[in-house]
Order: sequence, then C-alpha cells, then structure tokens
Amino acid sequence: VAGAIQADAVIVGAGPCGLFQIFELGLLGIRAHIIDSLQHPGGQCSELYPEKPIYDIPALPVCGAQELVDRLLQQAKPFNAQFHMGQEVTELKVLPDHTFLLRTSLDTRFHAKTVIIAGGLGSFQPRRLGCEGVEAFENTSIHYKVKNSAEFTGKHLLIFGGGDSALDWTLEFAGKARSVTLVHRRPEFRAAPASVAKMHDLVSSGSMRYVEAIAQSLITEGGEFKGVRVKKSDGAIDELHADKALVFFGLHPKLGPIAEWGLGLDKRAILVDTEKFQTSVPGIFAVGDINTYPGKKKLILSGFHEAALAAFAVAAHLNPAKKIPLQYTTTSPIMQKRLGVA
Ligand code: FAD
Repeated sequence: VAGAIQADAVIVGAGPCGLFQIFELGLLGIRAHIIDSLQHPGGQCSELYPEKPIYDIPALPVCGAQELVDRLLQQAKPFNAQFHMGQEVTELKVLPDHTFLLRTSLDTRFHAKTVIIAGGLGSFQPRRLGCEGVEAFENTSIHYKVKNSAEFTGKHLLIFGGGDSALDWTLEFAGKARSVTLVHRRPEFRAAPASVAKMHDLVSSGSMRYVEAIAQSLITEGGEFKGVRVKKSDGAIDELHADKALVFFGLHPKLGPIAEWGLGLDKRAILVDTEKFQTSVPGIFAVGDINTYPGKKKLILSGFHEAALAAFAVAAHLNPAKKIPLQYTTTSPIMQKRLGVA
C-alpha cells in the first residue's frame, strides 16, 4: 500500500491497556505503532482522574493515576514503540490479503498485519456548548481549542469554562483580544488558584469581564454568530455580544468510528473470545474497556491480562508456523536482551 506506514502491529488507543500492550508485544519481539486522538498518552487515567489514587493495581498498594501511566510508559520504553498522537483512527479496512489499512484524522495511513484496539470508552471529544444550533458555528465562530491564536486577537471574545484551559487562555487573550469575557457557571474554579486570582485582578482593573452564568442560546443575525445569551446565577438573562466564543468544558469519550468498522459488537463494546481476545475479524484484537465477553469487568488489571494473552495471539497470527513458548522475564536471556537488561 503506497504511502502507508508498514507495521506488524498497530495499537489503537494509548490508555493504560494500550501502553501495557506495547510491553507485552515487545517481550515477544514485536514492535508496535500506537495511535491516540489525545495529544498525550494515558486515556481515562490522565484525562479524567490524573490526581486520584488507584488502590487495586497488583503489588502497588496505592498509585496515582498519572503515576501509573508514567510507570507504564517507563516499562514500555525499551520496546521503542512509535507514538502517533493527536489523531483519531477514522477508518479500518480489511484488505483482500487479510491485512489491514488504517487511516487517521491527520491522514496518516498504516498498512498493518495485526491491529489491537484498546480504545476504552472511545476517543475523547470536546464537550459542546449546550445551545441549540451550535454545530453550525463550530470551528468558525465557536471553538473548542486554539489552533492559531492570531485568529482571536483584536476580537470580542467569550470564553466558557472554569478549568485550567479556560483560565490560561483568558489570561493570554486579556489585552490581546478587543475584549474578553469569561463565563463560568459557579464561583468555584478547577484551575490553578494563582490563575484565578490573576483573572480577578484583571477584572478589578477593568481589563476583562467575568460573568457567573450558564449559556442559554445563541445570538445570531442573518445566519451569523453574534454572541451568547446567558442565564446568570441570580436568574437574570444577559446578552453577551462577541465575535467568537472559546469553550473549554473538558473532554468526554465517544465510541465514534470504532462502531463502524464491521466488528461484532454487544451494545457499545467489541465482542472478543477469552483465549486470544480476538474480535469477529481474525487479526483484529481488542483489549481493555472497549471489549466484552462473559464476565467482563472494566478494570485496568483485567486489561493487563487481556493484553498479555492478545500478544501471544498476535505473535501466532504473524507467524503461524512458529510455536511461541512461555518464557519468564526472570530467566529468559532473549527477553532480557529485548528489555535491555542483559
Ligand atoms: P482508556 O483509558 O479509555 O483509553 C482509551 C484511549 O483510546 C483513549 O486515550 C482514547 O482517546 C483512545 N481512542 C479511542 N478511540 C480511538 C480512535 N478511534 N482513534 C484514536 N484513539 C482512540 N479502574 C481500575 O482498575 N481501578 C480504579 O481504581 C479505577 N478508578 C477509576 C476512576 C475513574 C474516575 C474512572 C473514570 C475510571 C476508573 N477506572 C479504574 C477505570 C479505568 O480507568 C479503565 O478501566 C481504564 O482506563 C481502561 O483503559 P483502556 O486503555 O482500555 O481505555
């Protein structure tokens, strides 16, 4: 397949299970490519609860969620997987020779002999501004990320949210945009206290505005975005006129394209067997929260076990004639060589 990256194994999803999959494949001498729609690895652990402690990882009585991700990355490091971040896998096609073609939202293409889907609850998407008709203005007047900050300078700007992204961009654009109004639904912020204090200082000095309110509806004129009508905490309705709105309500996972790849599904999960964790398509495997089988529990430790068995099945799929013996990392010279410890 011209222009595609040739791969023995492509992992879709760099959550904890995708990361451990790199390790288990590596022990068997298989180098992986790994793709995630987020810019950073870690899946739910990094995106949803990085600061929270996890108590049920074997042999780690307590482990921070981000710490777990960091440890998995460190453990997988010897196997030199290639990370392709910030791109969603949109297409997965079976080719006539039973290999696979994957395509991402950045148009990176992979020609893979095996695919392991570790997509968790799906790829993380920005939470939308909850106003009717918002889709029509997305990426033109209403934005969920700043791709090019020049687009916002000199503009009347509304910023929604109370986390670090909302506050960081508020501070960045105050003074650069024509006007900045921050809208957040409650007095408590999730952002760094120093940023919140700085924002309040800017409000006091008249450099920007802060409104405690919830977005209600869009203000439009002749099909153009003119601002957002908000309901303030005292119940009053206010019209906030603006050229552009930036919305930072965080990300939530959405199964997305995975549902359209022709794999056997049960509700929103991919059906697998419990010997190989293979899907209804030979050569495509699924591990972690994305899969289902009788007795499935969506726990990180279950995903680790699944990744270990899937690695053996991937090795057998790549090389059907070869028997893959079980080896211990403690005593196997070849595994120790692969780990870089021998
Ligand atoms: P995920 O962590 O969901 O990662 C999947 C990754 O795949 C994501 O990064 C996503 O962006 C990516 N992806 C999906 N589709 C695509 C695509 N098409 N293209 C590119 N990338 C894609 N479990 C425990 O065992 N113990 C606990 O104490 C625990 N506490 C939890 C607390 C909270 C608040 C939450 C929300 C979960 C908790 N869990 C816990 C569950 C645990 O986080 C999940 O079981 C685990 O994250 C699953 O890992 P995963 O790698 O399968 O998927």
